[in-house]
Amino acid sequence: MSKLKMPNSLPEPNINENAKIVLQRRYQRKDTTGVVYETPKELFWRVASSIAEEERKYGESVYTPSKLAREFYDLMTSYRFLPNSPTLMNAGTGLGQLAACFVLPVEDSIEGIFDAVKHAAMIHKSGGGTGFSFSRLRAKESVVGSTGGVASGPLSFLKIFNCATEQIKQGGTRRGANMGILRVDHPDIMDFIKAKERDGELNNFNLSIGLTEQFMQAVEKKEDYDLIAPNTHEVVGQLNAREVFNILVNKAWESGDPGIVFLDRINRDNPTPAQGEIESTNPCGEQPLLPYEACNLGSINLGACFAKGKNGHDSEIDWEELRRIIHLSVRFLDNVIDASIYPLDKITETVERNRKIGLGVMGWADLLFQLNIPYNSQTAIDLGERVMKFMRDEARAASKQLAAERGPFPAYAESIFGETNLGPYRNATTTTIAPTGTLSIIAGCSSGVEPLFALSFVRNVMDDDKLLESNPFFEKALREADAYSTKLMEEIAKVGTIRKMDHLPESLRSVFVTAMDIQPIWHLKMQAAFQKYTDNAVSKTVNLPNEATREEIWDIYWKAYEYGCKGVTVYRDGSKMSQVLCTGDDK
Ligand code: UDP
Repeated sequence: MSKLKMPNSLPEPNINENAKIVLQRRYQRKDTTGVVYETPKELFWRVASSIAEEERKYGESVYTPSKLAREFYDLMTSYRFLPNSPTLMNAGTGLGQLAACFVLPVEDSIEGIFDAVKHAAMIHKSGGGTGFSFSRLRAKESVVGSTGGVASGPLSFLKIFNCATEQIKQGGTRRGANMGILRVDHPDIMDFIKAKERDGELNNFNLSIGLTEQFMQAVEKKEDYDLIAPNTHEVVGQLNAREVFNILVNKAWESGDPGIVFLDRINRDNPTPAQGEIESTNPCGEQPLLPYEACNLGSINLGACFAKGKNGHDSEIDWEELRRIIHLSVRFLDNVIDASIYPLDKITETVERNRKIGLGVMGWADLLFQLNIPYNSQTAIDLGERVMKFMRDEARAASKQLAAERGPFPAYAESIFGETNLGPYRNATTTTIAPTGTLSIIAGCSSGVEPLFALSFVRNVMDDDKLLESNPFFEKALREADAYSTKLMEEIAKVGTIRKMDHLPESLRSVFVTAMDIQPIWHLKMQAAFQKYTDNAVSKTVNLPNEATREEIWDIYWKAYEYGCKGVTVYRDGSKMSQVLCTGDDK
């Protein structure tokens, strides 16, 4: 617990109706009988003060812990910045596991596999999600030296991980998420591509195929490529790259799984190649990590950085305010590394060596609404690049400032920055764009860099609670256009979009677009614009209408490669039995 006393003058936070439910269910402290004993104000003070306390370690700081605690409190309760869920849940509680993202290696031995299951269980219990590459496991039916029998292959073990996850709820609230990755040149790749064929199968896993550039070139040339046994490194077969890509696309069309990650791209941006290759990302794909590495994330609400134009000037982004928030947020996330107690010594060592943090954004669609810029426009893409460049430059500047106060990350000299004049930095990476699934509910903003799913919709969360939401900027614009009525809002909630509502002004219909109104190419262009200036990766789902074709998904997967994305996920409306978000009367 923090030694910093809560000041009497500390203002009460404003909590929106949805946040009230989410905070109570998941974040506020409960006693052993499940009774909540912490108020939201106490929660935010617990987090702010315990993270600010870390400042004491560093004599050089420009802040006193109490001043910094107040700054952090104001930053979070004005919903300008929020750290990832485990930090909100665990900071200052003595539980102390504050990171959302982990990657564990899965070694090709029974001991190695079950170590990974155990470590994953420990991480899930503490509120984190885990990514694994199963690429090191020998193929099914290959020989097992110790018994003379045959191996059962990555897929059979994947089921064990899935089952173990099922049994471990994070602090009684939610299950840990998993990412499973298999390289496209693994002999069991076809089984893996089809692993989630049946709805509900491997439901605690997102699956992604690790694609190489060599493979993508073979797709282009319609050539065969080699399958390589991971244990012997021998070529054990060949497949036609285009056929594999087609099947992959078919499966993604059917169910959204598997996604793809571009391993060479990811490793080109690996800041510490001397420590080995990156084989996997965290569960939602935004955070590539080395084996035994963890990363804490945090997100700035861009919608709160809007400056209304005065004296005839156009409305703009409040760049000075954004700069202030970025610098404070980087300090926050760097402190989180020190405040965190990791479930394994090996993780502590890797994290402390590289000190990765992932500062990202949410509320992007809200900002565009306020600026009257359609998401599906070149203006939005250009602004996305500009915002993210600013984020990365300022986050790095803040990391440099911290390096001056506290020293660079220990692996700095052997990192890619060691040979350039870019550093020294305190953190091997500073930027990541997270999905902000729950953070955006707490902040009451649009999630990540996604367009709105619907202008008005019903959100299914946590064991089928239903929350009705409509976007506040949309409501405001309707009122300003004198078009607001309860009847209209009800109509919109049925379909989510106003695209076909000809009676509404065109100026509204072009700006207030939703994920389904937008051509897939704009989703991808936006992802690429943000990726360009993001150290880690961008969480983004290319949402497609139910009638989208396999060819469209082919095109999206291919263009993701051409545009330099690190991976991509698609989702065709209605292709899974249970959806997190839905519109209409069919809930
Ligand atoms: N995550 C998880 N389980 C969940 C949701 C998220 O393990 O149910 C992890 C996962 O690594 C994911 C990351 O948290 O990629 C960030 O997700 P998000 O931004 O949605 O989390 P939030 O902080 O908003 O809860």
